[in-house]
Amino acid sequence: MIKIKCSECETDGNISLVASNYQGPYRCWKCRGLFTIKVDNNELKSFEPLDQEEFDRQQEIEALKAKFKQH
Ligand SMILES: [Zn+2]
Repeated sequence: MIKIKCSECETDGNISLVASNYQGPYRCWKCRGLFTIKVDNNELKSFEPLDQEEFDRQQEIEALKAKFKQH
């Protein structure tokens, strides 16, 4: 689990990652803001606002990746 602090509302959220590196969508549970985050070695390196369209696209990519991993 990695703690992510929302830059909009300062609320801490948690995400669980399968790897120590991650770049992808994140949604704050409190303000419902959408962001692209980058985690490197279990540390949050970047946190950027994301629009809904881009969020959907990134989620599709993540879903596809997950599908491929199963086979
Ligand atoms: Zn927030």
